[in-house]
Amino acid sequence: MPLRAKVATSVSKTAAALSRAAGRGDGSVIGGWLGLKIDPDLLAHLAAGRAIALVSGTNGKTTTTRLVAAALEVVGGQHGVATNSFGANMPTGHTSALAKAGSTPFAVLEVDEHYLARVIDETNPRVVALLNLSRDQLDRAKEVAMMAQMWRTALAGHPDVIVVANADDPMVVWAAQGSGHITWFSAGQRWLDDSFVCPESGHPIERSGGDWWCSGCPLRRPRPQWYVEDDGVVDPRGDWHLVKLQLPGTVNLGNAATALAVAAEFGVRPIEALPRLSTVASVAGRYAQVERDGRNVRLLLAKNPASWLEAFDMAEQAPTLLSVNARDPDGLDTSWLYDVDFAPLRDRPVLITGDRAYDLAVRLEVNGVRFEHVKSFDEALRTVPPGRLEVIANYTAFQDIRAELDRVN
Ligand SMILES: [Zn+2]
Repeated sequence: MPLRAKVATSVSKTAAALSRAAGRGDGSVIGGWLGLKIDPDLLAHLAAGRAIALVSGTNGKTTTTRLVAAALEVVGGQHGVATNSFGANMPTGHTSALAKAGSTPFAVLEVDEHYLARVIDETNPRVVALLNLSRDQLDRAKEVAMMAQMWRTALAGHPDVIVVANADDPMVVWAAQGSGHITWFSAGQRWLDDSFVCPESGHPIERSGGDWWCSGCPLRRPRPQWYVEDDGVVDPRGDWHLVKLQLPGTVNLGNAATALAVAAEFGVRPIEALPRLSTVASVAGRYAQVERDGRNVRLLLAKNPASWLEAFDMAEQAPTLLSVNARDPDGLDTSWLYDVDFAPLRDRPVLITGDRAYDLAVRLEVNGVRFEHVKSFDEALRTVPPGRLEVIANYTAFQDIRAELDRVN
């Protein structure tokens, strides 16, 4: 590595460590930012010589990244896989994660959708996993079809990259189509509102069961090589593998199928990967279960309409606390609440809290869901009987509750 890159790496690690010691989070953003100021090519230097998987999409990327990293320990060992496990998913976070890990043969990086093109250019990955595209952070994120176009252009420029892509999402399929080597998986798609129109021809997309096709051009669902069946995953040879996860919901079975497909491109067989996947109990607080005052609190993160639907699917029929903020990391616009059908919650006691609890209150009222407003997480705990309390919160609301529970992992 050139001298400038060595110095930049060292400064990046030191700054991150100082930031952690000062109690300002995990320090990966400031560390990476400083490193890239000193050497703008630092990410490329740090990536060189590693076999890398990138994971991108609107939802599920933190969890899938974690599962892929666990699976790659089969070939890399416990210290041989670098990853940005704290969800810092822009180039500053990638730089910091690779600097901190030292030289490892493998790296698995979660990548914000907007940065995928740049990170592919700089890290020359072996595999890029594309999960899904749907609306997110309405006040600043790109419109879904524009994002698909950006991905498509980026991948067309790297025909050597292996693309592992979700056959169930028309936007993802269209973005991946021009790639030289594609492995399709099926992870399901519960949210359909961002793919009613064909990105190629503008005709309506028709759907039947799990299948879909464009009514005006040849774009249609490719046959997936990896897919979920019952409680397991079928591999490209047609063998079915039972998947035992600590993470809830069919959404996470889909994430496991994705992780197995990515790991296979690194020579890891499902039979070797599966025991590693089952060790993952929570991901940066998501899905964590905490005992508090006789209540079993489970934390579910939901940041946009598609992920709220998934959270309703994961949550048990138990008292449920919803918390919504609209601070900068959440996006300032809460009109997305009207994209979510809250009707699945009509059969359980619902509590609401958070900075924008009143926005949520109006939405629930319109949706015919009864609820009670509480001022704090503590009040929510006192309000529900002993037993399970499901908590579904958006980004900063989730971090607030996690902090009250002593930063559970
Ligand atoms: Zn079409």
